[in-house]
Amino acid sequence: MFSTRTLSASCLTLSLALSFGGTAAKADGEVNIYSYRQPYLIQPMLDRFTQETGIKTNIVYASKGLGERIRAEGANSPADIMLTVDIGRLERSKQLDFAAPLDNETIKDNIPENFRDPDNRWFGLTGRARVVYASRERVSQDNITYAELADPKWKGRICTRSGQHDYTIGLIASIIAHEGREKATEWLSAVKENLARKPTGNDRAQVQAIYAGECDIALGNTYYMGKMLTNDKEPEQETWARSVKILFPNAEERGSHVNISGMVLTKHAPNRENAVKLMEFLTSDEAQGLYAEINFEYPLNPHVQPSELVSSWGKLHPDSLPLIEIAKHRQEASELVDEVAFDDGPST
Ligand code: FE
Repeated sequence: MFSTRTLSASCLTLSLALSFGGTAAKADGEVNIYSYRQPYLIQPMLDRFTQETGIKTNIVYASKGLGERIRAEGANSPADIMLTVDIGRLERSKQLDFAAPLDNETIKDNIPENFRDPDNRWFGLTGRARVVYASRERVSQDNITYAELADPKWKGRICTRSGQHDYTIGLIASIIAHEGREKATEWLSAVKENLARKPTGNDRAQVQAIYAGECDIALGNTYYMGKMLTNDKEPEQETWARSVKILFPNAEERGSHVNISGMVLTKHAPNRENAVKLMEFLTSDEAQGLYAEINFEYPLNPHVQPSELVSSWGKLHPDSLPLIEIAKHRQEASELVDEVAFDDGPST
């Protein structure tokens, strides 16, 4: 068992070094990024960075296990920066002990304190609200609360992705943080009974399901609506998106749950200086504007406004409970999902 793991870790290092072009990982004028974010989402910012600084960027993308890779590669890791979504993965970089502290005035000026690790080991870049997508045809109300999703009036009408997905876990953790575990359990069981089907697919698939009449409301992140409404490659997504509206849950009271994407500098960054330049750049007005306009995310830099399309959905009132407090309940949230067998779908 142990030798198998050691072997696979060294194979990984080799394959990553190759994907960065052999020894190029340590060459001057480069920065190596391990990214949980799909390359097409970050390429426009990286291209602009390269234009302005001449520093080349290399990306290794994976949807899982990047933090574990960086840890396994240790001092030989070519990774300078990890880009990721979700507070859980940012916090995990500290637990895996590969995140370097970075005390940087530019980044501190650009990103508000509540979106940075108190020990400066991770920094938020963008925000995304976990909202309700609602059928324009079949849902007349223009406001909603997360609590209301448990109301029997939604029986057979709610769609969502897996309860164990990071996005759902973040939301459930916020319910536990606000209401306590017992109430959160009741809530989650009731939401489960209101589901139209077993949790399945990604956030975009829920919009499709509303369009197809399988359900009337769904949970999803804000930016997918922007991405779908402007999708030239798959114009059917625009059709799905046009059939739904966005309701910001709890807008009138504690606010909507907002998670973040963010970045981590690695302890053994071979191109540390370039990495810091890139990190500063990603928090700048310019890069934050690109995140807003191209990705439809909420810029965390307060000087930069959300895109016109995103603003047209209404004003986001974010939950003011610090994300780091919410993240403390992620493990419990995951246990709850299993406890109520959320991913089995409704029992009747
Ligand atoms: Fe996403």
